[in-house]
Amino acid sequence: MTPPPPPKFPTRTRAPGSHNGMGSKWITKKRRHAIYTRDGFRCFWCKADLSDALPRHRGLDHLWPRKRGGSHEDHNLVTSCTPCNSVRSNWKPSQGWLR
Ligand SMILES: [Zn+2]
Repeated sequence: MTPPPPPKFPTRTRAPGSHNGMGSKWITKKRRHAIYTRDGFRCFWCKADLSDALPRHRGLDHLWPRKRGGSHEDHNLVTSCTPCNSVRSNWKPSQGWLR
């Protein structure tokens, strides 16, 4: 019994030793902080000021969802407050929002 070969995914850069998508270990604290800083500690969606927010109340969001092939690169990541993040994870971006 030989299992079929795994599907080929487009080039995906993943640091050796990093977790593959489970939890929040896919990004280092340092990179996370760099994106917060780039975005001025404001939620990309609602513009809430998150500079004093607790770590659990702010996060990163993928502009292009990972399910749809979005990467973990900086240009695909934005600062997001928890409410926006949870709304968006249930929201199907059908049209327009990325343009
Ligand atoms: Zn928000």
